[in-house]
Amino acid sequence: MIDVHDGPRLDALRSRLRLDPHRLKRLRVQLLKNHRGIERALDELPSELRAEFAAQVRFHHLELVQHRDSEIDGATKLVFRTDDDLRIETVILRARTGRTALCVSSQVGCGVGCDFCATGRLGARRNLTRGEVLDQVVQANTRLASEGRAVRNLVFMGMGEPLHNEAVLHEALESLTQTHCFDLAPAHICVSTVGIPAAMVRLAQRFPRVRLALSLHSARQDVRSRLIPLARHHDLDELRSAVAEVTRVQGQPIMLEHLLLDGLNDGAEDLEALVAWIGDLPVHINLIPYNPIPDAPLLKSTPKPRREAFANELKSRGFRVTLRYSLGADVTAACGQLVRDENRREARR
Ligand code: SF4
Repeated sequence: MIDVHDGPRLDALRSRLRLDPHRLKRLRVQLLKNHRGIERALDELPSELRAEFAAQVRFHHLELVQHRDSEIDGATKLVFRTDDDLRIETVILRARTGRTALCVSSQVGCGVGCDFCATGRLGARRNLTRGEVLDQVVQANTRLASEGRAVRNLVFMGMGEPLHNEAVLHEALESLTQTHCFDLAPAHICVSTVGIPAAMVRLAQRFPRVRLALSLHSARQDVRSRLIPLARHHDLDELRSAVAEVTRVQGQPIMLEHLLLDGLNDGAEDLEALVAWIGDLPVHINLIPYNPIPDAPLLKSTPKPRREAFANELKSRGFRVTLRYSLGADVTAACGQLVRDENRREARR
């Protein structure tokens, strides 16, 4: 079968079928950009070729096995099954502004092993393929079409470290931003990483308008290494040099993600270390509340008043700061949680 996202092989099939290139282009636009579904997209082909084309092309790479709608904040968590019977998750985030964002996964499990993350507890299983990454967007859009919505913003913040699946990430970003494919604005896509310096710079060079978010979580090496085991391999000086290069290449601030954990990285010392580490780097700081996970009972979110005080202090020092609220807490939207629950249920069955 030929992957519908594989332009060269699809074009070879088109040539074999003596299909007009414009027809193929319109089919992909209907499917990927206009979210019309497979049947409507196939209508773009001459009727005598539809069955043969459909028999040779793979449109979907994932099967939706579960979805959970939040009753409080418009988040929907989707759980997909892969061909090899693994589970990944994708989260639809419906903002009050009417905009819709999608949080996609790049790996099954994750090898980084962050202390606070349910996916990290799964360990690294495998990288997702380009088709599996992009099918999360296709299937979310099909679902959203009935609500008159479409994915506008895309964040690689689901399961996995996207820069550990770099080749597929770059291929997916090409498709996502091409006008005859998904046609998303590069500035509406954000790749979140725990910080792999060389790969961050390569991403910025190839996709200068795609946003990068660095999960810093602490500017104290010992605290950061405890929270993110991979941080032992890339110290804060190396990371800072990469951020300086990324912001120079992109000409825009980088997002710094800082999960606020009670008593761990939310004190005065942590704030001073953060301010010193940032120095004159152009950054936008996102302060994030923590969704507790059962496997890390000792980790707790910083209470709201202290989160606000932390944010206000940074603002008073001239930083751009956003204090995030957590979407989907009632659908266990914390990274990897639902998949872990689902895997446990499968094991019990
Ligand atoms: S937070 Fe991200 S990088 Fe860390 S373990 Fe979870 S998925 Fe991996």
